Amino acid sequence: MKISIIGSGYVGLVTGTCFADLGNIVICADNDPDKVKMLKKGVSPIYEPGLEEMIERNISKGRLKFTGSVKEAVTKSEVIFICVGTPSKENGEADLIGIENVSRDIAKHITSYRLIVEKSTVPVETGERVKEIIKYIRGNKVKFDVASNPEFLREGSAIQDFMKPDRVVIGAGSKKARDLLIQLYEPLNAPIVLTDIKGAEIIKHAANSLLATKISFINAISIICEKVGTDVTEVARGIGLDRRISMNFLNAGIGYGGSCFPKDVDAFIHICRKLGYNFGLLKEVRKINEFQRNIAVRKTEEMLWNLQGKTVGILGLSFKPNTDDIRSAPSIDIIKKLQEDGCKIRVYDPKAMDKARDALNNVKFCKNAYDVAKGSHCLLVLTEWNEFKELDFSKIKKSLAQPIIIDGRNLYDPEKMKTLGFRYTGIGRKL
Ligand code: NAD
Repeated sequence: MKISIIGSGYVGLVTGTCFADLGNIVICADNDPDKVKMLKKGVSPIYEPGLEEMIERNISKGRLKFTGSVKEAVTKSEVIFICVGTPSKENGEADLIGIENVSRDIAKHITSYRLIVEKSTVPVETGERVKEIIKYIRGNKVKFDVASNPEFLREGSAIQDFMKPDRVVIGAGSKKARDLLIQLYEPLNAPIVLTDIKGAEIIKHAANSLLATKISFINAISIICEKVGTDVTEVARGIGLDRRISMNFLNAGIGYGGSCFPKDVDAFIHICRKLGYNFGLLKEVRKINEFQRNIAVRKTEEMLWNLQGKTVGILGLSFKPNTDDIRSAPSIDIIKKLQEDGCKIRVYDPKAMDKARDALNNVKFCKNAYDVAKGSHCLLVLTEWNEFKELDFSKIKKSLAQPIIIDGRNLYDPEKMKTLGFRYTGIGRKL
């Protein structure tokens, strides 16, 4: 099939590259000329395991192309995926100007039937607006369909998630649109959920909101565990081994971040309010998450007494492991708060340092975890990268000015840390 992708970021680039790898002819468009220049050379502007190799392979087979021109993408393909960002406005509402701009651009250039697919995460009823705007610009001259096909991939395992999804959701208003998407996804052999456009839009917001709820739930439980002196990881296991609940998303920590959960929870609360429903449960989920970010700063203060003039060594900047994405990462807020309180900061992240250089000032970027420890008054773990799980702790201890570890992701065993001579605190752990 001939496919185009408008917006070649974390979702668009993975989607386009994977569809090309499945044998389709794909054109990925983006309005960032630097990104397009890199991509044309086969260089990925984002870190995602396995992605660059896949891009190179498909460029060389002639199945994957990059362009700065939406017109080229639209004219040369039958199915067009909209994958631009849908960030939050200040009031939490999803900012849909990107979706509108792309819809207008598409409308200008279609001359025969096209299927336009929303892959970006959008509030319910956005599909209606996309349809309206295209109709308004083209009148009845050109036939087209709009469909919703939300994406559930996770950064860090995006290719695997795309190629082996738990399900593919197709929200379509016509048989032709539905059949085209079913045909496109057939090689994945995944369960397909067929619904209407509004159903698909709600599925995405509801899924992310439920996952965020699980995280905030276990974080609330971690507070109780800490108060009474028991261990949240054991409690989580006791809850999660129940198959109705599952262990997934039951890791207590400094809260969720990234470019999806915070904005999607906000956007869902907002659209529900607009529709006349006050989603109080989700407001509480968001409040618990904000509280967890403050816990990292409060625990650092408890351990160091006065923060003024202390050096805090930070392990991990990306919002989760295996990605370089720092959008809405807890690390950025936490570092800024510590700086406001007078701390000096040393940091290391395996992949996110380049992106963090633009977001942080007066921070010493170090070459590894041991370098971070040098002269720091404590080590604060903010991302659960694998390489932080197996550190040489005697080396770390020798380098630190004080043997203190604040473990924001519950990576380490408190007993073991105590035996190694550290003062240790995690989130909701038995001390
Ligand atoms: P992103 O910022 O990485 O990518 C968006 C891309 O669109 C950018 O490269 C930008 O330059 C480009 N763009 C913006 N306006 C354009 C225009 N008019 N024409 C051409 N290109 C344009 O964002 P992302 O993380 O890929 O997210 C995209 C959407 O997918 C969002 O709605 C997000 O919520 C959703 N989503 C993201 C993830 C994730 O893990 N990142 C997962 C599922 C769904």
